[in-house]
Amino acid sequence: MNKILIISLSALLNAPAFAGMHPFFAKNIPEGWPSYEIKDYNGQVEDGYDGPLSNILVIYDPSIKPEQLNRYLVQQTAIANKAHDINNIKYRRNVVAAIPMKLEGENVAEVADSFSIGDFDEIRRKYGASVVSLVINSNLADSQCGVQTSYHTVTAFNEPCSLPTLLAHEWGHVDNLGHEYEHTWSHFKDDNYAWRCGGKPTIMSADLNYNQFDLNEFYSDPNVTRGGEACGTSTANNAKVLKEIISNPNSGYWIDVPPLPKIGNVTIALDENKSSEYEKVITVTRDGDLSQAASIEVYSDAVTAVPATDYQELAKRVEFAPNETTKTVSLQLVNPAPTDAICDDGERTLKLGTRWGEKLGSSNQLDLTVKTPEDTLASCAKDKEPEPTPEKPDNENGGGGGGGSTGLLSLFSLALFLFRRRN
Ligand SMILES: [Zn+2]
Repeated sequence: MNKILIISLSALLNAPAFAGMHPFFAKNIPEGWPSYEIKDYNGQVEDGYDGPLSNILVIYDPSIKPEQLNRYLVQQTAIANKAHDINNIKYRRNVVAAIPMKLEGENVAEVADSFSIGDFDEIRRKYGASVVSLVINSNLADSQCGVQTSYHTVTAFNEPCSLPTLLAHEWGHVDNLGHEYEHTWSHFKDDNYAWRCGGKPTIMSADLNYNQFDLNEFYSDPNVTRGGEACGTSTANNAKVLKEIISNPNSGYWIDVPPLPKIGNVTIALDENKSSEYEKVITVTRDGDLSQAASIEVYSDAVTAVPATDYQELAKRVEFAPNETTKTVSLQLVNPAPTDAICDDGERTLKLGTRWGEKLGSSNQLDLTVKTPEDTLASCAKDKEPEPTPEKPDNENGGGGGGGSTGLLSLFSLALFLFRRRN
């Protein structure tokens, strides 16, 4: 029933450096990442943009750390939107909220089988989203990284599935875009195939003889060339189909969720009086029309501070009841300091901001500084003195979250990797 494509893992292992694409671990934030130009997390859609939007509600496994998810979504949406620019299509994919929720099922196939169309309808309407993207931590037993069904996508967050164009591919399916001719099982359109040029396939490729980590970052399109080759033909023109789909409001019933009206803005401030050495208390105040319920997420984003070592990552949705104007959230500094606390008396910084408002916009962000607590500094300075450690590349993650990746790869070494589409 489902078209299934298979590749051995070797293609993934031979992939070039992931170029900042693999989900980062708390102690392994790649420098300068994401490398795409992003104004901020609210800035996926440029100010004044008036073209068609695909608003996306993300539901993610609570085991995924919020700041990892942040960067992942920023990068995936940035690549998807960059594709539209290259294809000369006025269209923006825009995450409107990300909600942690434990889903039934341990991998892409099981999760996709566990829900029915309509199950997430209420929540997507609450946030004005037409598309629902479920991001999971997979056990990879199904050997799948992504699947699209109706207006849902299910994708695995795991490192072996950290393809830069994974969500651009699945979102392309939501908009009816197809694979290469030979990898398409339902030929309902005769101009909707992926293509390749300059040695690489385009985003909708399912040709796993090619390195899926290094595709051309756009949709098939005879008007785009790479290496002197046209990146599409009259039958391989995903870009044309995408233009038709978004210009026809009746092309999909699911598109019919109106974006939310904006009724006010939110300002955040540090409450010095209520804050302590181990807790920063943040006041969240809204303005505008206060008569309606509304919500927004307060989030943290590391600059030089280290999540999980210096502070607990924050992604907290603040819900305002009608006529409620102020709430507080707190950022917990790590207490007691972990054994791997940074033994340095300097200040480190992080940002706090608000984003993904349900009817609310954001007015500001805060720069916060954190320090290793005094008593931790004293004890780690003592520990450091006696034993000069032998010159060895040390295990950066010290058994923490990062250690999982190698294990995962070996676990995965007999596995197959495939894409599936069902609708
Ligand atoms: Zn596909």
